Amino acid sequence: TLFRSIASHIAHEIRNPLVTMGGYAKRILKNMKENEPDPGKIIKSADIIYTESERLEKILANVMDFTKPSTYIKDFNDINHVIRDTYKLLKNVLFERGIKVNLDLNDNLPSVKCDFNQMKQVFINLFQNAIDATPEKGRIEIVTDSDETWVLITISDSGTGIIAEDPEVIFENFFTTKATGVGLGLANVKKIIKDHGGIIKAGNREEGGAEFRIKLPVPAAEQKSDYNEKIEGEG
Ligand code: ADP
Repeated sequence: TLFRSIASHIAHEIRNPLVTMGGYAKRILKNMKENEPDPGKIIKSADIIYTESERLEKILANVMDFTKPSTYIKDFNDINHVIRDTYKLLKNVLFERGIKVNLDLNDNLPSVKCDFNQMKQVFINLFQNAIDATPEKGRIEIVTDSDETWVLITISDSGTGIIAEDPEVIFENFFTTKATGVGLGLANVKKIIKDHGGIIKAGNREEGGAEFRIKLPVPAAEQKSDYNEKIEGEG
């Protein structure tokens, strides 16, 4: 049933851009066959075809993410490292948009047993959403901290805030308020966090903008010393 709903959603999403692309390709062909083809019109049509093909690529990338089998390679990783890595990746986009990022990362964070790349995917999605929701010269803040049982991560932005009445719905498959959105990003994020024994909550801040809180379990001490022994044993 989930598969069916995904399939029918994808079919629906893909149809519009395809119809548009076909229509404009036809226009180009028609124009080329005329005595004096109009380069202006041809460029305009080609431009629309290009934009629509980019949209299709985005839809597919989202779907691929979602349908990827979730085999995790879990190692002890420093979440701060994952966040800094993601930030580096998106630095240019953030700079272009004039968005200020504040990373307030606690240096004494215990490491978490997690799949580095999957965690990176989590932060890419959350960053991307914050960017989408943040008008020019906005702010994004990431804070990390920990207590005995959890590593705590808060990502907040100065954007539009979550429009939905119940913030939980934004984690549902296909919930989107964006014109070209697919609504699988946060569903994917929630799945990855859950598969790591964690929790994610969304809400709005009093001063405006959205806030996402993530908790990831701190591994038990004996689990970690086991791991360290293994590592040492290999050397
Ligand atoms: P998509 O980005 O394709 O819409 P997501 O699952 O990533 O899919 O997000 C679902 C919806 O949640 C968005 O369309 C938006 O309405 C809301 N949302 C997510 N992040 C934020 C944010 N930082 N601020 C405001 N709304 C958000």
